[in-house]
Amino acid sequence: PYDLLVIGGGPAGAAAAIYAARKGIRTGLVAERFGGQVMDTVGIENLISVPYTEGPKLAANLEQHVKEYGVDIITEQRAAHLQRKDMLQVELNSGATLSSRSVVLATGARWKTLGVPGEAEYRTRGVAYCPHCDGPFFKGKRVAVIGGGNSGIEAAIDLAGIVEHVTVLEFADRLCADEVLVRKAKQKDNIEMIVNAQTTEVLGDGKKVTGLTYTERTTGETHILEIAGVFVQIGLVPNTEFLQRTDVALNPMGEIVIDERGTTSLPGVYAAGDATTVPYKQIVVSMGAGSTAALSAFDYLIRS
Ligand code: FAD
Repeated sequence: PYDLLVIGGGPAGAAAAIYAARKGIRTGLVAERFGGQVMDTVGIENLISVPYTEGPKLAANLEQHVKEYGVDIITEQRAAHLQRKDMLQVELNSGATLSSRSVVLATGARWKTLGVPGEAEYRTRGVAYCPHCDGPFFKGKRVAVIGGGNSGIEAAIDLAGIVEHVTVLEFADRLCADEVLVRKAKQKDNIEMIVNAQTTEVLGDGKKVTGLTYTERTTGETHILEIAGVFVQIGLVPNTEFLQRTDVALNPMGEIVIDERGTTSLPGVYAAGDATTVPYKQIVVSMGAGSTAALSAFDYLIRS
């Protein structure tokens, strides 16, 4: 059995594995895809002390760093269930079961996509999901934000300080963001908000985004917006479906409930990164949280 088994190989899981292995304990890491969301990212400019890197390069660096510490890495495997018997037991999709004295859950999240033509094709070439990450790439340009919930309106306010103009498109007949955010957005003269708007296609020139089309749901009319970027803000879904039948408490959004030490409701199980209730979903935040979770697990191991 392992002393610590990490589920997930993104920034949070890699950090947890390195911190655990450096304590000299037997550490394993199971990941469906090493690197996680970082693999879907092009430019990264906010990993402090690294002014610029690219997703696949950062993922390779993470893997190399973990490999320097004799961590037992198992990739292309999904965790399917977690339970405590004498030890913690993690069942994999392959049918195998791994035993460990402690576990760090770091399975991350995925952005909800619109599912319209052009979205996948222009991902990272104008279609973006993270305003903190990609906003500065659109400096002085016109962009759209899809989604009029809190994350959409927050994104619009954030982007309005960087880009030339922001159009918010909301499918429903009203914005569902908090009133204070909507008021703030209305005060900005470079934000326009359109309700009853169904985005139907992302347009491009083969290289990058040039616009989008939407249908006005009340009249059925189609409109074209000329923009250089589309920020899709219709929700982030944590990869925690496999925990639904376990003793690990999730909040109504499916995020793993943790405290400031990364402790979950199941003794010996800690969690970190985008899969948790942590308020900000970022690489550097996930790395810090992964380290915290591993140190908490180590503290648990030396006391039990
Ligand atoms: P993830 O990176 O999501 O990794 C999760 C890991 O768990 C993966 O290895 C996955 O394969 C694995 N996994 C999932 N389910 C299972 C399972 N059941 N069993 C086994 N393994 C499983 N942040 C920044 O700070 N700067 C940026 O510039 C930036 N740009 C971004 C651009 C895009 C397009 C996206 C999508 C995100 C961006 N982010 C950026 C956010 C950042 O990528 C995430 O905050 C960060 O990757 C979260 O790390 P994590 O380790 O918690 O999860």
